[in-house]
Amino acid sequence: MNVVVAVDGTSGSGKSSTCRAVAARLGLRYLDTGAQYRALTWWMLDRGVDVHDAAAVAERAGEPVLVSGTDPLAPTITVDGRDVSVEIRSDEVNAAVSPVSAVPEVRTRLVELQRELIGAGGIVVEGRDIGSVVWPQAELKVYLTADPAARAARRALENGGADVAATQESLLARDKIDSGRAVAPLTMADGAVHVDSTELTLDEVVDVVVGMVMERV
Ligand code: C5P
Repeated sequence: MNVVVAVDGTSGSGKSSTCRAVAARLGLRYLDTGAQYRALTWWMLDRGVDVHDAAAVAERAGEPVLVSGTDPLAPTITVDGRDVSVEIRSDEVNAAVSPVSAVPEVRTRLVELQRELIGAGGIVVEGRDIGSVVWPQAELKVYLTADPAARAARRALENGGADVAATQESLLARDKIDSGRAVAPLTMADGAVHVDSTELTLDEVVDVVVGMVMERV
C-alpha cells in the first residue's frame, strides 16, 4: 500500500502507540518525527549548546547526522551512529525539545529529512506539523488529542509510575510552546479528522484509524 498517513496532535495523546500499531497492521513503515527533534536536542545538550539561545542552536543545526529506522515493530534513531532511543526520553530532553524545535533552521533541516523518507510512500508519520506543513497531500490526516489528565496518566504509567501531576505539567508546557511558536505551530491541518482518544482504548483508536485508511484506498 502506497499511502501516507499523517498523525499530528498534542504530547501524550497516544500518537506513537497508535501509529506503530496501525503501521504494523497495514504493513507500512513508521516515522516518529518527534524522535528526530528529540535526537537533535539531545545532541545540542551533549555538546553544551545553550538550547535557549536560538542563534547558537541554528548555527549548529546542520552538524549531527540523524538516521531513523522505520520498522514499526522496532523503530530506531541514531545520531552520528550512536543509538539514542533511551537518552531522548530523559527529563532534560523533555524540557529542552520544544525551544529547540521552535528554531526555524532546525525545522528546515528535519523537514527535508522527513520528506526524503516519506517520498517513497507506504508510511505512517507522527508529529505536530505533518498534515499542515511536511506532507499536506497525505491520503489521510488525523489530529489525535485527549484530555490532559488522561494523557498525563498514560504517560506517567509508561514511564514506570512517574508523578502524574509533574508529568501533566511537562506535557502542558510543551503543548504551549508547540502551539504558540511562529513556525509550523501545532494545529489541526485542513482536511484532518479529529479523533479524541480520552474515552477510547488503544485498540479502539487503532481500529478507527485503520478503518479510515481502508476507506481511502
Ligand atoms: O512527539 P514527541 O512528544 O516525542 O515530540 C517531542 C517534541 O518535538 C514536541 O514537543 C515538539 O516540540 C517537537 N516536534 C515538532 N514537530 C514535529 C514533531 C515533534 O516540533 N513534527
